Amino acid sequence: MRVHNFCAGPCVLPEAILLEAQSEFVELNGSGMSLLEMSHRSPLYEEIHEAARARSKSVFGVPDDFEVLFIQGGAMLQFSMVPMNFLQGEAGAYVDAGSWGSKALADARMYGEAYAAWNGDQESPSRMPNQGEVEIRPGTRYLHVTSNETIGGVRMVEWPEVEVPMIGDMSSDYMSRPIPWDRFDLVYGGVQKNLGPAGMAVVFIRTSTLENTSRNLGTYLRYDIHADNRSLFNTPPVFTIWMTGKMLKWIEDEGGLPEMEMRTKQRAARIYDTIEASGGFYTSPVARRDRSLTNVVFNLSNAEMETRFVAQAEKNDLVNLKGHRSVGGVRASLYNAMPMEGVEALVAFMHEFQRENG
Ligand SMILES: *Cc1c(COP(=O)(O)O)cnc(C)c1O
Repeated sequence: MRVHNFCAGPCVLPEAILLEAQSEFVELNGSGMSLLEMSHRSPLYEEIHEAARARSKSVFGVPDDFEVLFIQGGAMLQFSMVPMNFLQGEAGAYVDAGSWGSKALADARMYGEAYAAWNGDQESPSRMPNQGEVEIRPGTRYLHVTSNETIGGVRMVEWPEVEVPMIGDMSSDYMSRPIPWDRFDLVYGGVQKNLGPAGMAVVFIRTSTLENTSRNLGTYLRYDIHADNRSLFNTPPVFTIWMTGKMLKWIEDEGGLPEMEMRTKQRAARIYDTIEASGGFYTSPVARRDRSLTNVVFNLSNAEMETRFVAQAEKNDLVNLKGHRSVGGVRASLYNAMPMEGVEALVAFMHEFQRENG
């Protein structure tokens, strides 16, 4: 029996694609072998690879002047690849609104000048910067933003209006909202949050920037090499690409990005409405405007009550609701494949728990 899984990552996947993968796993399409044993230069794999590449762009509405790359190492390798490839003597500006933005900034400092163009460390309630608060210094190559801080549950609702191109870590709300592509040079996300199993990042890079990305790097670290080789420069993570391809097809069949965006809003609204209607039994530590739609973080009156909530939820097959160890509290991650019935089950449990403990 499958439970309601609110894990922040890896994410829940649609049961339909798990079953489909199971049925195709041992022998793929009459080839006499599984995908995992197949040459990544074979026609059968080639078809899977190209379909996943094409759907990454079509589902997300990515314009023609962007190249899609599948790169192992998750989102965190991008914390290094971005400054390695782009800085080249210029500076990187970072919006630091939570744990992931901080980590991206710390990694960038290993490779050149990088600074916080806005720092949200001391903000309570936690939030994203307002327009005009992001300060860009002369000689800045890009502004790096985290569209959704997975741990704090804070979402960038409005993109900062700045003169430099942006680079976005969109791991935890990947393909659940439209993107103003003209403002970005690069967008990336680890697929395991909203899009598939762990094993790679999907990176969209503005093709014209590839002329100037660094050549003074080990080959795997160069964006231009991945682009020239259609992400087949070395052995790609075939299982992850296969599953991500299935997930993209599922998104397409369900109604595409507009449908994902609508469901994302609906799921989050149900939980936030329950928090708001609880008379202070449940509280959100995040400024109302900036509340995440994919990672709903909330608190109860004290840590002991939160522990009891999480434990009792688990007995009701609502699992992985414990907040990140660095911030505590409760976190319900509501990714693309979370069905509304999972959300309704959580809402019903929240009401019941409040009745018993309020
Ligand atoms: C999880 C996460 C990461 C790290 O992703 P990995 O793929 O595990 O490296 C980076 N950024 C954000 C916003 C995340 O949620």
